Amino acid sequence: MDFLPQNISDYAEAHTTAEHDLLKKLNRDTHLKILQPRMLSGHLQGRFLAEISHLMRPRRILEIGTYTGYSALCLAEGLVDDGKLITIDINEELETFTRSFFEASAFAHKIEYIIGDAAEIIPTLNEVFDLVFIDADKMNYTKYYNLVFDLVRKGGYILSDNVLWSGKVANIQEGKKIDKDTRNLLDFNKMCHDDPRTENILLPIRDGIMISRKI
Ligand code: SAH
Ligand code: CA
Repeated sequence: MDFLPQNISDYAEAHTTAEHDLLKKLNRDTHLKILQPRMLSGHLQGRFLAEISHLMRPRRILEIGTYTGYSALCLAEGLVDDGKLITIDINEELETFTRSFFEASAFAHKIEYIIGDAAEIIPTLNEVFDLVFIDADKMNYTKYYNLVFDLVRKGGYILSDNVLWSGKVANIQEGKKIDKDTRNLLDFNKMCHDDPRTENILLPIRDGIMISRKI
């Protein structure tokens, strides 16, 4: 999932503010106790998401795909005083673990954690978002993008994670079969790039983040 040579990525992490204690514990405990820990954003991407949030000072953030809450806690850092982050995950088995970290954080009162299918929850949200982070099942990225689009303010951002899909989207070979998730992400990236309502940059950090700004 990491495209940078190991020494470069080690050096970048070594010169990036360390994870504070709660995130370090969340990272460690997720690896010890939870399935598929590589889904967690991790140190470098986490600091990137936090920095975006500090730059923007958002009032409303929506996250689709909480997992154990690592990216939610990073994104919450820059929220204004009366700001709120809504995060949705369909996996109720993660709820107790994840909620305990939200409650231990300084952002407990700013995080609304909803268990359910994002495709069903999003249409019920009565908010205008400054920032949306799409990071759930890759099959439904286009659906999530279309569902959230009208809820994002002009000048707001949609960040979509894992759009390089371990590099697979850039390794298409004639005559070779393309797996389903890769196909979905190819279509999603093209749709984002062709959308005249946004300006976009595909940032090759970690597994690739599509940054779309609504113009
Ligand atoms: N954002 C997290 C990682 C998310 S992993 C981080 O960076 O640390 C992807 C998550 O999407 C999983 O926890 C999975 O349960 C969730 N997910 C999958 N399908 C979903 C759906 N239909 N609605 C909401 N969440 C979903
Ligand atoms: Ca991700």
